[in-house]
Amino acid sequence: MSAKPQPVAAANWKCNGSRASIEKLLECFNGQEITHDVQCVVAPTFVHLPIVQAKLSHPKYVISAQNAISKSGAFTGEVSMPILKDMGINWLIIGHSERRTYYGETNEIVAQKVADAVKQGFMVIACIGETLQQREANQTAKVVLTQTAAIAKMVPKEAWANIVLAYEPVWAIGTGKVATPEQAQEVHAMLRQWVTEKIGADVAAKLRILYGGSVNAANAKVLYAKQDINGFLVGGASLKPGFRDIVSATQ
Ligand code: PEP
Repeated sequence: MSAKPQPVAAANWKCNGSRASIEKLLECFNGQEITHDVQCVVAPTFVHLPIVQAKLSHPKYVISAQNAISKSGAFTGEVSMPILKDMGINWLIIGHSERRTYYGETNEIVAQKVADAVKQGFMVIACIGETLQQREANQTAKVVLTQTAAIAKMVPKEAWANIVLAYEPVWAIGTGKVATPEQAQEVHAMLRQWVTEKIGADVAAKLRILYGGSVNAANAKVLYAKQDINGFLVGGASLKPGFRDIVSATQ
């Protein structure tokens, strides 16, 4: 069993939180003693970014945005990568299934955003994953590899040092229906194998592949025990103090 790369524990707060709830949660995150090597990430809404910047003091944490468009300009209601960079944000979640489903982000749009983000100096958590219908039709491999290939087509090999892949089966997101460790491992191993063959064994060995989909304090440890699971992208459970246990599970 080869050594795992540094894990990532990422909290995706989605469109949630108030000033008070965020401050309380950050106090809780700040107070955790983390002794192992892990990259913790917290992704609040755009408007909450400055509060998190002011209140988050844990050295193992970085702050991420949940989305961005590539350039500034006449795009009413959007937030761009240059604006986020200027605000001191260096991480982005791109291609979350909610962006794909509700806002029409295709594989090509997601791949272009990932390429633009890396070019602008961001670390990117790029999300992929199949729907229940696709899984039941035995299309999981085809779907996630097509999503990954779209990104690979747009970025040079060196860019992969700044990309974290998040495998998030759509049927497991926010449903309480977590993939079994075996189901997740099967897809993660297949993704790593694909990266080995198409991009390079050196890239594959270092690539963090996160699992996302109803991860919580109770199931994180058994998932992380799998060889190719390198951490988590967490929605609902990241809004609770139990996120600390998910961080601890990446040990
Ligand atoms: C997510 O938002 O990426 C996610 C995985 O949500 P949840 O943990 O609530 O399923």
